[in-house]
Amino acid sequence: MSRSAPAVVILLGPPGAGKGTQARMLEEDHGLVQLSTGDLLRAAVARGTPAGRAAKAVMEAGGLVSDDIVLAVLKDRMADPDVANGVTLDGFPRTRAQAEALDALLTEAGQKVTAAVSLEVDDAAMVERIAGRSTCAACGEGYHDRFKQPAIAGTCDKCGGHDFKRRADDKAETVKARLEAYHAQTAPLIAYYEAQGVLSRIDAMGSIPEIRAALARSLNEVTA
Ligand code: AMP
Repeated sequence: MSRSAPAVVILLGPPGAGKGTQARMLEEDHGLVQLSTGDLLRAAVARGTPAGRAAKAVMEAGGLVSDDIVLAVLKDRMADPDVANGVTLDGFPRTRAQAEALDALLTEAGQKVTAAVSLEVDDAAMVERIAGRSTCAACGEGYHDRFKQPAIAGTCDKCGGHDFKRRADDKAETVKARLEAYHAQTAPLIAYYEAQGVLSRIDAMGSIPEIRAALARSLNEVTA
């Protein structure tokens, strides 16, 4: 990807589409820092901050946390020096109000969205993908019972950790609510970014390396 200003790449797609996995790969491939509002909110819940206490029940039910809370945690993180070289936004924006707030924030900083990539998948397959996923408790590397097992069973490929965790909201009932929230509130952002001329769509039903390659091609086209 060639670029002059720091890149702001948005990954759109329902839960399970592979946004987190691909965002981590963009970090490796292009040095773009993964900025996941889900991770930021889970950290706030774990620390018991006021934002975390307000978000906890909504997250457990698979709904969307209020724009005010999400924007506050995002702005906080955007102020950190490591994001200055470019970011991949994973799970943000999720509503029209968040997309408009992001545009305003970037305009203030003399930046704009470089690319928004929609990871296109079938809902039915998402339930299976989500049900099998886990992450290393030490470094956050993502795994899947079927699609991405560690090379040595029970040992993280990246850091050698042995403790794997599953997300509390990856239960089938909650996944259904999360998919509904995606279709009702987030999918309309595909048209929003299409109108800005920064949207590309990729088929995200393939393997992780296939999706990684398709994403690289699409970012090269958008930023060429
Ligand atoms: P994720 O890790 O992106 O799947 O997010 C997990 C949960 O955090 C979601 O189901 C929402 O409850 C909440 N969340 C994450 N990002 C946002 C956002 N941008 N807007 C509202 N809620 C969010």
